[in-house]
Amino acid sequence: MKALRPVLLFALALGAGSVFAQEKVLNLYSARHYQTDEALYADFTKQTGIRINRIEGNEDELLERIKNEGANSPADVFLTVDAARLAQADALGLFAPVKSRLLEQRIPDHLRAPDWFAFSTRARVIIYNKAGVSPADVQTYEGLAHPRLKGKVCVRAGSHPYNLSLGSALIHHLGEPKTEEWAKGLVANFARAPKGGDTDQIKAVAAGECGVAISNTYYIVRLMRSAKPEDRKVVESIGIIWPNQKSFGTHINVSGGGMLKTAPHQDAAVKFLEYLASDQAQTYFANGNNEWPVVKSAVVKNPELESLGKFKADSLNVGTLSKNTAQVQKIFDRAGWR
Ligand code: FE
Repeated sequence: MKALRPVLLFALALGAGSVFAQEKVLNLYSARHYQTDEALYADFTKQTGIRINRIEGNEDELLERIKNEGANSPADVFLTVDAARLAQADALGLFAPVKSRLLEQRIPDHLRAPDWFAFSTRARVIIYNKAGVSPADVQTYEGLAHPRLKGKVCVRAGSHPYNLSLGSALIHHLGEPKTEEWAKGLVANFARAPKGGDTDQIKAVAAGECGVAISNTYYIVRLMRSAKPEDRKVVESIGIIWPNQKSFGTHINVSGGGMLKTAPHQDAAVKFLEYLASDQAQTYFANGNNEWPVVKSAVVKNPELESLGKFKADSLNVGTLSKNTAQVQKIFDRAGWR
C-alpha cells in the first residue's frame, strides 16, 4: 500500500486546482486485489476516458483510512466485501445516496441498500467430511447445533464479519432467543477453538480433524482451481451442502461498494458504479473472486463455480442483513464463540 502513496498525492494535487480533473479521474479505494480487475478498470478508462487511481488495502485498513481522512479524503468510491462491513461504513455516514435508474433496474432490490450496492454474491455453505458425517445430519445451519455433532464442528472466529452476517440473518429468521440457543449449541459442538480462515476449516475437514465446517463458496472454488494437486484433493474428500433449502434458503453475502459522501469526483463515481453493473463488467467482477454476478443477464464464465450448481438463496435484503450485527456479537460473546 505504501508504494501507491505518490499516486494518491498526485491525485490530490490535481483535485485541488484543476477543473479538468473533475471529469477525468476516479479515486478508487478497493479491498479487491484480483488480476482480472486490471482488465475491468482498463475497460472503464477506455469507455469513459476516466483514469482510475487505485488504492488497495485490506478491508478494515481502508475503512479506517477513509474515516481518518475525513472531509479531506480523496476517495470517490469504496469497494469492500461483506454486508457487515458495508453496513459499518454506512453507519459511519461515509456513503452518499446515489440516485441511478440504471443501478435500480439492474441490481435486484434485495442486493442494494439506500447508500450502497452489491456487485457480486457468495454463499455461506456447510461442508462435511464424506467419510465421517452423514449429509442428512447437516442440511441446515440449525442442525449444526444438534448434540449428534458433538466434537465435530469447525468454524472461524465468532467476531469475523462472515459469521456476524450469518448470525444476523439467523436473528431475522429465528429470533434472538433461538439464535442464542443455536450459538451455544454450536460452541458445545466445537472440535477445537476457532482459528484460521475458511480455507483452514475446509482443509481440517478434509484431514478429518473436523467433521463439518462453515465456509464461503469462493474458498471452495479457489481450491478446485488451484494449481496444487493437494488443494484439489481436499475438495474431493468433502461434501458441500446448500443449507436451509426447505426453509429460508442459504445465507448469501456480497461484495459491493458505494460513492463516498466526500467524493471529489461524483460524476465519475456514479459512472463507475453503473459500469460495474454492466454485463461485461459483472462477469469480470464476479469471476475475480469466484463469485456470482448480481445482474441476471451477466454470463458466468467459470466452470468450477458452475459445478457447484444452483440453490435457493435467502432473499433477505443486504442492508437489513447487517442491522443486527452488534446484537449478534453480544450473543456470540455470551455463547463463548471467540
Ligand atoms: Fe473472504
